[in-house]
Amino acid sequence: MALISLQNVSKTYPPARKGEPAVTALRDINLEIEAGEIFGIIGYSGAGKSTLVRLINALESSTSGDITVDGRQVSGVPERKLRTLRLDIGMIFQQFNLFNSKTVRNNIAYPLRVAGRSTAEIAARVEELLDFVGLADKAGSYPEQLSGGQKQRVGIARALAASPKILLADEATSALDPETTHEVLALLRRVNRELGITIVVITHEMDVIKNLATRVAVMDGGRIVEQGEVFEVFSNPRQASSRKFVSTVVRGVPSPDELDSLRRRHPGRIVTLSFRDGDSSQSEVFLELARAGIGFELVYGGINDISGRAFGHLTLALTGEDAAIDGALAAVGHGLKVAERF
Ligand code: ADP
Repeated sequence: MALISLQNVSKTYPPARKGEPAVTALRDINLEIEAGEIFGIIGYSGAGKSTLVRLINALESSTSGDITVDGRQVSGVPERKLRTLRLDIGMIFQQFNLFNSKTVRNNIAYPLRVAGRSTAEIAARVEELLDFVGLADKAGSYPEQLSGGQKQRVGIARALAASPKILLADEATSALDPETTHEVLALLRRVNRELGITIVVITHEMDVIKNLATRVAVMDGGRIVEQGEVFEVFSNPRQASSRKFVSTVVRGVPSPDELDSLRRRHPGRIVTLSFRDGDSSQSEVFLELARAGIGFELVYGGINDISGRAFGHLTLALTGEDAAIDGALAAVGHGLKVAERF
């Protein structure tokens, strides 16, 4: 059985004030997250991602449907039973949510104090966690003395304090610069691999999904519109709404404005070739164009690498006889996706 399982889950928030409409944040969600995986939840702001995570750690209750975490029912369970469930789930946030008046050591110790652990046990566990996140020398510092990346490492140590099975990360790197993001992602991979903790990441950042997650669900309007292996979803999104989201985070396809500017600078026909591992190689395409006597210039493009597998989009300006171009595109079109841009 999956570690986290949601079946036909919906959530409607009642109107905030009289006369306002109720908001349905989640509609008929079905999701299974297996023990040991790193699962990404992506989508535009307002898609329902945070609500979904708040249901998993029982900070909110669902309006209908079933949620189980580690075999335990979460929906419709009394508050005192949820306390033990929450010890199994750690959470980290975009704004870190540290106590500014407590030292790093005391921030990490906090959940253990609340859980009533002994002083000796807390001290030993905090030392272990400080080592794990590489902040042993900052134990006595206050959050304001730390960089963003160090603050998030404290957040991670605190989330791990009670040895949870699951770590929920809500936009945990969105406030960090790219280099620090990579450091934090490397730490999260260690949390997963070395400690065996299942991680659920909510993000709108491609880098996070690409470098961390193995499977992903794309949300839009409170629904999961598509889910699957990260490479599959990103290299070949099947639904219109996931294609739209993916195109905003994947490099390579020119936007309408960029296309206008390319068109002004390049008189020829503009064509985007999209390929994935296993398709015809770029060199075969260039060879075919050269063989047909077509002039070509690479004017826009990006190659993405996900877990060692590549996909990408190359936009070419082609010059030559129309019939020769049509013939060459038909020939390369057997191996990869060709889209003429008008
Ligand atoms: P995301 O995390 O993808 O940005 P959210 O889960 O925060 O999306 O929000 C989904 C929808 O639910 C939005 O329309 C949002 O305005 C609404 N919503 C979220 N939390 C509440 C709340 N506590 N009360 C009322 N509406 C809410």
